[in-house]
Amino acid sequence: MNCGERKTAYIGMGSSLGNRLQFLQNALCSMHRSDQSIQVTGVSPVYETPHMGLTPEDSERYPPHFNAVARISSLLAPRQLLAELQLAEEKAGRQREQKWGPRTLDLDLLLYEGVQMHAPELTLPHPGLLQRAFVLLPLAALEPKLILPDGARLEEWLHKPIIKKQQAVQTRQQLHIPQYAEEM
Ligand code: AMP
Repeated sequence: MNCGERKTAYIGMGSSLGNRLQFLQNALCSMHRSDQSIQVTGVSPVYETPHMGLTPEDSERYPPHFNAVARISSLLAPRQLLAELQLAEEKAGRQREQKWGPRTLDLDLLLYEGVQMHAPELTLPHPGLLQRAFVLLPLAALEPKLILPDGARLEEWLHKPIIKKQQAVQTRQQLHIPQYAEEM
């Protein structure tokens, strides 16, 4: 833990197998800790996006994804947080047989307040953040005024051709921010 100082971080969530909405909701619930080391403080709308790199003959093997972004307040340092996200993926029964294959749950640490790092096991901000519509759209819906550590403004990236040419449709599905018992 980082000595009691809470930091804001953003988590990219995706699911393309089974009850996709339930996998995303369960991920929020497993992130939200009773010891308050991780609190979920916001969640984006749910987007539906085709599997990345899909060719027409792949569409049955690779069902579309549900994607969303969560904002959290964390007492955990970035590597500890990543380890927790990987545990939540395992809990959701994620198999890693195929690198880009369908998955019950994929959790990425997109941003962690004040941290820029390049290590094989953790790159921050997440390198795909500005390239992938399924990350950028939900993140911008949740935090439209967000500015990245290098000064990039999310709202400007939304209009770039690389994002415009990708399909990502906002659904009517909703995720709920988990509550602590005393808040209910
Ligand atoms: P995947 O779950 O297939 O998207 O990739 C996970 C791998 O990427 C793991 O080996 C992580 O250690 C590594 N990785 C590097 N940076 C990040 C990040 N910001 N968020 C999540 N995984 C990351």
